[in-house]
Amino acid sequence: MRTNANFFLSLQQGIQASHSKLCISGPDFPELTYLELEQLTAQTANLLKKLDLKAGARVLAQTPKTPLAIALYLACLRAGVIYVPLNNGYTIDELDYFIEDTEPELFVCSPAQREKLEGLFNKHNISSVLELDEAGHGSLLDSLKDLTHEHEVEPVDTDDVAVIIYTSGTTGKPKGAMLSHGNLDNNSRSLYSLWGWQKDDVLIHALPIFHIHGLFVALHAALLGGSCMLFLSRFDTKQLITLLPQATVLMGVPTFYTRLLKDDALAPALCNNMRLFVSGSAPLLEETFKEFSERSGHQILERYGMSETGILASNPLNNERIPGTVGFALPDVTYRVCDDEGNVLSHGSIGTLQVKGPNVFKGYWRNPEKTKQEFKQDYFITGDLVNEADDGRISIVGRNKDLIISGGFNVYPKEIELVMDDFETIVESAVVGVSHPDFGEAVIAIVVLSDPGGDFNEQKMINMLKDQLASYKVPKKIIIQNELPRNTMGKVQKNLLREEYGKLFI
Ligand code: AMP
Repeated sequence: MRTNANFFLSLQQGIQASHSKLCISGPDFPELTYLELEQLTAQTANLLKKLDLKAGARVLAQTPKTPLAIALYLACLRAGVIYVPLNNGYTIDELDYFIEDTEPELFVCSPAQREKLEGLFNKHNISSVLELDEAGHGSLLDSLKDLTHEHEVEPVDTDDVAVIIYTSGTTGKPKGAMLSHGNLDNNSRSLYSLWGWQKDDVLIHALPIFHIHGLFVALHAALLGGSCMLFLSRFDTKQLITLLPQATVLMGVPTFYTRLLKDDALAPALCNNMRLFVSGSAPLLEETFKEFSERSGHQILERYGMSETGILASNPLNNERIPGTVGFALPDVTYRVCDDEGNVLSHGSIGTLQVKGPNVFKGYWRNPEKTKQEFKQDYFITGDLVNEADDGRISIVGRNKDLIISGGFNVYPKEIELVMDDFETIVESAVVGVSHPDFGEAVIAIVVLSDPGGDFNEQKMINMLKDQLASYKVPKKIIIQNELPRNTMGKVQKNLLREEYGKLFI
């Protein structure tokens, strides 16, 4: 006999307690109440049943961001079907791999994408394909017409897979991280209480929904509390500036904040109603934190997490938020800091963060080898290099893969970036290692200048850096670019920089 640990039941409590309230509002879509959302999820779950999708089947969704896409996700949860969100930017070759890897029984995409993918659907014998366009119309919506609002939530175990999230991965094929109903339940409840969600919160939801940030972190807490979401199809600075006075919470990536700072309209009066600005998915620069606090009257709360684990650490809601740190580990997260061999390091040393807890994923989909490699005993190896202060605050110093070994010395890029970013002439920098005939790897820096037409002198900068850093850490070359390449979550794509400049010295 299965227990019913379906995560949808937790969300349903929030949804049902708020039936008469608005769930979706904002300029991009027609308003939707919580009652209507629940009905839509029931109808969509009934559609999955009609299409003969059993518990454990996979639905691949490469959809535009619309309220119906949210209903599709929730319907999969309630039907015990595994939801697999896909980045809208994936190419046909990448999709070929995802389809082969997951063997979906249903694929949902935009009408334009369907035309491009017809060949793939035939190749993989995908029998059910439904369309969802940017306005929320298409065959998915049409198929719901005669379906009832009654649906019994499918019983599942805590450990049953709810969602597979493909992680970006800088090398090799993407891996599908299997998140269970229990994982989602644990992390969303932790964040709900940690960030003090209130019934009358109004969330600006401007993140994509193919990533944990938009799909889990922002959405789950809002649904648990029955909050209204100003649900935007994409981030737009002007639109956010208009909506801030009506909102109380914003979940964002650092780029949201740097873009808001560029708008002269950003001022404390605009943010009077706001109680919480959250940032994550990529490091928030200390100067962004400081500038934003001066311009808005609010300190951004930075948190840290990853697809495989959900959120792991957060700055506090009520106590001091320290820029450059990601705060304290979440209550249920057990962690240790280890060297490359997996030995636990003494407190305060820089090492790889390993974590365990009810938020940590089950493993990689159909990839037991990779799963085995990435766990040490029952700890998951995050690959992030951290430093823990005496009071338990965690700072991310870099990623294991970012580590540069030059002439036998370890160089942590973050350390050099912090020094470089302190110069007025430099807006931001990315430090990477590239092959070098003598040192094995050489440190180089790619920078964005505050005055691109000015008289930046590379050698002078190198000399100044030598004043602050051991010379093995100082970049051998500083390259100027108009901007750093970033993915949709705002993360600097260092792999692209490594590729571009990989042959500088060889
Ligand atoms: P993803 O699985 O795409 O969410 O990427 C997770 C990775 O993003 C983590 O392993 C970190 O390297 C990075 N990350 C997430 N949040 C932060 C943060 N606040 N500061 C620095 N890096 C972060």
